[in-house]
Parts: sequence; structure tokens; C-alpha cells
Amino acid sequence: MEYFGVIGYPIGHSLSPVMHNAAFKSLGIDATYLALEVRPETNILKEAVWGARALGFTGLNVTIPHKEAILRFVNVKGIAKKIGAVNTVDLRTMEGYNTDSFGAISSLENEGIDVGGKSVLLVGAGGAARAIAIGLVEKKAKVVISNRTESRGLKLAEEVRRYGECVFQPFDRLEDLKVDIIINSTPLGMKGFERKIPVPDSIVEDVVVFDTVYNPRVTMLIELALKRGCKVIYGIDMLVNQGAESFRIWTGRNPPLEVMKRAALEALKS
Ligand code: NAP
Repeated sequence: MEYFGVIGYPIGHSLSPVMHNAAFKSLGIDATYLALEVRPETNILKEAVWGARALGFTGLNVTIPHKEAILRFVNVKGIAKKIGAVNTVDLRTMEGYNTDSFGAISSLENEGIDVGGKSVLLVGAGGAARAIAIGLVEKKAKVVISNRTESRGLKLAEEVRRYGECVFQPFDRLEDLKVDIIINSTPLGMKGFERKIPVPDSIVEDVVVFDTVYNPRVTMLIELALKRGCKVIYGIDMLVNQGAESFRIWTGRNPPLEVMKRAALEALKS
């Protein structure tokens, strides 16, 4: 039996265990995936990671609040270096990867959207926005970042500009913005949060709309976009695609995407 897990705090609501356990079962892999609460202190994180390795775990996903702190303990690979955050660790090699960016970009590409040369409004400047913005400019998209706290948005735009085209646009000056793709990377619209559309209604027209919020699956933003005939990308696809990429890194096998997605959607219903 192989062991995998996700470490974070809090961790109770993670959908990763159901997704990965469903994937293992469907491919007949003798493995189990656990949600493991690891408190925010740095020395506890280090002990948890090395402890999991000593216990024979093969891989870990890493989530809030450890995605940046983990950089010190692993050999950081690929785009994770630019993003400055790791969400997947291979404990056999102690290599750290970031699959959030892949999860977002592949969700667009799987729907036939090539982001190269496209203008993209990305709302939010937190960890998810950072991974998505860097993934977008790597693919030669032109990114406009907007964020409630201007200083944070400006800082992210400046950092992303090191790798490609990226500007900042204030939150209250989005009315006349014309872009090809809008991405929400804030919790607005999420269950238990403000039920609000993160951009002015007027710009949700003739545009691809991607809401990274996955609970509920159909947010107010997605609802409006569908009503206006826009192509939409769901947050659940990003969640499944980032998990699937971790699965590929650990097992070298093709992840069963539909199985993982069904398991995640079932868990959201309950
Ligand atoms: P984070 O680091 O805490 O950043 C949150 C961002 O949302 C910040 O830019 C923050 O703006 C903004 N924000 C928060 N409350 C807001 C409000 N009331 N009005 C306007 N802006 C607000 O969080 P994160 O890790 O980037 O995650 C953000 C969201 O992305 C999550 O809530 C989740 O729904 C989604 N997500 C989805 C996936 C997926 O796989 N589908 C993965 C990761 C995240 P300030 O800078 O002004 O505080």
C-alpha cells in the first residue's frame, strides 16, 4: 500500500482525498490519500514533511498556509520557481512542483481556448491569481490584474511583468475594459461568502468567463455569462486538473479525469 496526503490548516473541507482515492480505485492502484492537518508554525511543517517521508509516504499536496514556507524544504522545480509556491511534493526525491498554474491554463485549453496573444482580465492578487498570472504570461497572454487592495495588485503586476506582459487596472475602473477572457480569482461568489459578481455587469459580454470558485459550481458570475451566451470555464475543472497533474507526477500514469471530477462533484453535493 502506498500513502499520499494533503497538508494544510484548516484541511477538513479539502476535496483532494475523494478525488485521488477515486482515481486510485479506478486504476486499481493500491494506495490511499489522507487529509492531514498541519498547523501554521514553520518548524511543525518541516517535521511533518520529513515525518511523512520517514513513514513511507510517496507524495504530498500542500495547501494554505504552507505553499510558500515549503519552498525551504524541497528542491523547487519548473514554474514553481517563478510562482514562488509549491503545492505538490514528491517525497521520494524531495522535489516540489506547482500544478495550480497548469490546472488553470489546461482548463482553458481543454475547452479549445489558446490564451497566447489574448487579453485577460484577472481579478484578485492572492496565491491563486499569482499562479494563474504567471501561467498566462508564460503562454504569451496579455494580462490585466485588478484587485480590491490596489497596492497588492500593483505589486503582483510588477512581479508578473518580469516574465511577460502585465498591467494593473484599478477595481473601480473596469467598466470600459475590453478583454477576451475574464478570470475571477477572488472568493466573491463562493458559498458562505459575499454573493456578488466581481466585475461590472457591462463587461460580461462577448468574452470567455472563467470563475475559479467551485462551490457552488454555478456562481452568479457564471450564471450571468451563460445568460449572455458567453463561453464559460468552471472552477471545478481547475481543481480537478491541478489534482490530476499531481497524480501524474507521483504515479507516472494518465489520471482518470472524469472519475476525479465525478468524485469531487459528488462530495460537493453532500
Ligand atoms: P488569497 O490569497 O486569500 O487571495 C484572495 C484574493 O481575493 C485577494 O486578491 C483579495 O483581495 C480578494 N478578495 C477577498 N475578498 C474580497 C472581496 N470581498 N472583494 C474583493 N476582493 C476580495 O486566496 P487565493 O488562494 O488566491 O484564492 C482565491 C480564490 O480562488 C479562492 O477563494 C477560491 O475560490 C479560488 N481558488 C480556486 C482554485 C481551484 O482549483 N478552482 C484553487 C485556488 C483558489 P485583497 O488583496 O484586497 O485582500
